Amino acid sequence: HDIERPQPDVVTPGMYPCNAPSDAIVLFDGTDASAWTGSVQDNPKKKKYNPEGKMLWKVENGYLECTPTGSIRTKQKFGDCQFHIEWQTANPRQGDSQGAGNSGIFMMGRYETQVLDNYENRTYADGMAGCVYGQQPPMVNACKKPGDWQTYDIIFQAPRFEGDKLVSPAYVSVFLNGILVQHKTEILGPTTHKKLPVYKPHEKDSILLQDHNNNTRFRNIWLRELDLMKDESTPE
Ligand code: MG
Repeated sequence: HDIERPQPDVVTPGMYPCNAPSDAIVLFDGTDASAWTGSVQDNPKKKKYNPEGKMLWKVENGYLECTPTGSIRTKQKFGDCQFHIEWQTANPRQGDSQGAGNSGIFMMGRYETQVLDNYENRTYADGMAGCVYGQQPPMVNACKKPGDWQTYDIIFQAPRFEGDKLVSPAYVSVFLNGILVQHKTEILGPTTHKKLPVYKPHEKDSILLQDHNNNTRFRNIWLRELDLMKDESTPE
């Protein structure tokens, strides 16, 4: 009951919970994609071609649409954060299983929360929307229909390293369309395909949106930088 105990900062909520609050870093507001950069794809014989690594996803009608030019990443690097994004997959659905509206949000460029159209579209459970890809299925399938805008609110705790040693793994909590699908799920390591991941030490890094050859759209992207371990002493 100590009146002198430090007060939490005041944060003015947005009009709706999906609106960026006062302390957010806005990464895409519907028109300005300058927070993002592309990835170099320099083989002209491949479908993905982007020799200068520019951000060549399409910006129109308030959204950012994946084009076959490679994944994009934030110029700024982040660690712990609360991240909001909205996404829309093609209607009518194109493809099935992992081929339907596949993208992904890679925290620190490594740890994927899957983006996929899983409305009445079966795929492996640890590859569904709301999963930690290849590791942990979502608690429920909270997908909306193809063409509906869907929301992710992701609380990400970055891994901590001391030298080469992992001292605390990454954790992620995820709300899909406001429904809890991951609760402080331990991430086993960087996203891999059918392999056991291994952590390698790294610093803060970009958030990556995956080009998985589907024209998935994104809008209203913002995050709040956090320090989720500031009250915990580093384990010995
Ligand atoms: Mg993906």
